Amino acid sequence: MKYLVAVITLCVAAWAQDSETVLLNGKILTVDGRFSTRQALAIRDGKILALGDTAEIRKLAGPQTRVIDLEGRTVIPGLIDSHLHAIRAALSFSTEVNWIGARSLPEALGRIREAAHTMKPGAWLIVAGGWNVQQFQENRRPTQAELVAAAPNNPVYVQLAYGWVVMTPAAFQALHITSESDLPPVGRLERDAEGKLTGGISGSQRVITSLFDKLPKPSFADQVDGTRKFFRELNRLALTGVVDPQGNNMTPSDYAALFQVWREGQMTVRVAYSLGTQTPGSELEEFQNLTRLLPMGFGDDMLHFNGIGESVTAAMYNNDKPTQADKDKYYEVAKWAAERGMTLTQHWGRDASVGELLSVFERVNKEVPIAPLHWSIAHLNDASPESLRRMKALGVGWTVQDAMYFGGDAFLQQAGAAAARRAPPVETAKEIGVAVGAGTDAHRVASYNPFTALQWFLDGKTVGGTALRGPEETPSREDALRFYTLGSAWFSRDEAKRGSLEPGKLADLAVLSADYMTVPVEQVGRLESVLTMVGGKIVYAAGPYGK
Ligand SMILES: [Zn+2]
Repeated sequence: MKYLVAVITLCVAAWAQDSETVLLNGKILTVDGRFSTRQALAIRDGKILALGDTAEIRKLAGPQTRVIDLEGRTVIPGLIDSHLHAIRAALSFSTEVNWIGARSLPEALGRIREAAHTMKPGAWLIVAGGWNVQQFQENRRPTQAELVAAAPNNPVYVQLAYGWVVMTPAAFQALHITSESDLPPVGRLERDAEGKLTGGISGSQRVITSLFDKLPKPSFADQVDGTRKFFRELNRLALTGVVDPQGNNMTPSDYAALFQVWREGQMTVRVAYSLGTQTPGSELEEFQNLTRLLPMGFGDDMLHFNGIGESVTAAMYNNDKPTQADKDKYYEVAKWAAERGMTLTQHWGRDASVGELLSVFERVNKEVPIAPLHWSIAHLNDASPESLRRMKALGVGWTVQDAMYFGGDAFLQQAGAAAARRAPPVETAKEIGVAVGAGTDAHRVASYNPFTALQWFLDGKTVGGTALRGPEETPSREDALRFYTLGSAWFSRDEAKRGSLEPGKLADLAVLSADYMTVPVEQVGRLESVLTMVGGKIVYAAGPYGK
């Protein structure tokens, strides 16, 4: 009886008030439990009111309703990247030069040349990663001479992932680097066959991040501007949400620009952010201080605090052989987080050592069940069925990135064809029942373009075109899209609110430039949004909707 009353009340409310927006005549991929497709969708109060065929949904429109004719276009739930260093990428988006998607060196260098004209005279021109040599027809790195030719009057800095940088003489001069002793230890100045300096600098991740720290930071106004622009750029690519795992070069003050954009109500991407610490050895104290007034989940639908990671303790970050003391320390922090209901995400590279981490999770789990907390492991491209089963038993999820798109050829050399065939084993994870989210790990080590990642999920090809992954670990288009939407929503505990297009969920969606389900696989990477909505509001419109 109670149920009947509720249904009647709902219907009366629906009649009493028209939809704000209806989308008609489309192919709406709902990503619900059956992956059903609908023609039309109605939105009210920023949420999905109903889905159905065009005639049904048209009835929910009144004189004030905005009617969007999809003309047969495909609509997907807004994409969510479950591991994107978006807050960091955003800070410098309006002051950095971006090489993502450039197909040749002249095209990439052209972007430097253009920036030299559009930015202030003498401004630093910084490419902070997100590219790979194999994306260029020439299949090589740029030379110092080419950078000087593109921007003779600017200091230029170009970073390749976390292992190599090339700078122009003006940049060396500005940073006062004249010899190797001026570099962070133990960076190397590269020399050519004749012993002449090439302008290249190589070193570990620590060398490269400390070098990056020497570069001038964008002003606060530039950071705010960059944040707004970066979110729009993500909207252009159908993204409406990110789970941000902090990352290198980020301190608490680096969040101020994001907070300003949020305070001003200008967020166009939903952000769930996690915290790391700055001082190795005193992580617990630092986390305690940082979260004294920051309970798990604090924030709203546009921005909320999502716990700790992707580095929890420095001693367990990229360390395949942690000592018992390292694990005890990690356990202390992890247990503290679990007791406070916090989510935790941990960066881990290799399956051979992930048992060290899982044993700590299992130890915590004996005292505080962690399954409701949605903990996760990021990366782990060679995850074994055994590790995935342990993760499943704990309720620990897995965020998967397209690292093999840039890194696949190196991985093949190092791990062999059999390992490359199954990297990453998402089908095994699905079968075992591990929660899987998709993403990129942009923007230093990867491009943030989700369609590049989706195409790679489907064809297993590196940027250079080598097909590595076998059919056993290749997801269907439905599954790949599910990983990138509902799958990713799980990692910020938002799967009941967004990630699929179902009544009552937030109206986050994108109308695509072509049909994701039927375009040839090699064109998936070229898809874009022509209309993106977040909470029923249009945040990006182009082509037929851009006028
Ligand atoms: Zn990571």
